[in-house]
Amino acid sequence: MKIGFIGLGNMGRPMAENLAKAGHDVRGFDTVQVQPENVRMVRSAAEAATDAEVAITMLPNGEVLRAVADEVVPAMGREAVFLDCSTVDVDSARAVAAQAEAAGLLPLDAPVSGGVGGAQAGTLTFMVGGSEDGFGKVAQLFEVMGQKAVHCGPSGNGQAAKICNNMILGITMIGTCEAFALADRLGLDRQAMYDVVSTSSGQSWSLTTYCPAPGVGPASPADNDYAPGFAAELMLKDLRLAQLAAASAGADTPLGRAARDLYETFVEQEDGARRDFSAMLPRFEKRHRS
Ligand code: NAD
Repeated sequence: MKIGFIGLGNMGRPMAENLAKAGHDVRGFDTVQVQPENVRMVRSAAEAATDAEVAITMLPNGEVLRAVADEVVPAMGREAVFLDCSTVDVDSARAVAAQAEAAGLLPLDAPVSGGVGGAQAGTLTFMVGGSEDGFGKVAQLFEVMGQKAVHCGPSGNGQAAKICNNMILGITMIGTCEAFALADRLGLDRQAMYDVVSTSSGQSWSLTTYCPAPGVGPASPADNDYAPGFAAELMLKDLRLAQLAAASAGADTPLGRAARDLYETFVEQEDGARRDFSAMLPRFEKRHRS
């Protein structure tokens, strides 16, 4: 397929490279200079999108997405797919989809889970909002970039699924870190704690796959001095998006709000800015009363 790929950062670059490696004709644009393998770089987002069957965006936030959409949408032909894989607020996703639809395009919001490792390995999970037609047209691209794509309903529902998932993730990570810190204080061995909880009702992905305690469970950022991984800053971004969505939908999310507040303090006032989101565990340990 002829693909325009806009936003070739940590995630976009390996995704575009995987598409090119699979034989697709990929033109790329980014505001900073990058040279992904086998991707022809061009001078504007509009140039990348012109004549493309699919324009893919992988951008930092909704504001940038809206600005890029203003350039890309008029450059594309009818029935082409506008596939946004960034994590953005639900309102921006729906506004851009409406704009694209009005121009005769098939818009999809398809945020991903799986991180940079998943982008490189082509094992991302896509959560997709938009039409069945659009989904069908790009299903083969999801197969190249990922291992699973779930069609979640109309435009915006992909973003909704993503922020709900990550709100659970933030909450369970905080809960798991609190519990490990408490177990330490109670004199419970961390391995024993892991062995019990990973096979009991307190278990979650945060414990069994991404254990925040170093030396326990499968390898995780905790074993690498909490280098990200999934940065606390990105978790904060997603928890903020969840609160924006909750406010706009009138949903009551007290633990999501508390998780947002805690990551905000961690990132903005403590040493969390460049650490993995599981570094909540050493944070709690540091704050124990002596
Ligand atoms: P990144 O900052 O590395 O990449 C974003 C890229 O967009 C940069 O290269 C930047 O130069 C480019 N850009 C900014 N404005 C632009 C414009 N107007 N036109 C063209 N390019 C522009 O970020 P990332 O880690 O690749 O994340 C991208 C998106 O994926 C974000 O929405 C993020 O929340 C989401 N995401 C990231 C991860 C992760 O682990 N990094 C995981 C899941 C989802």
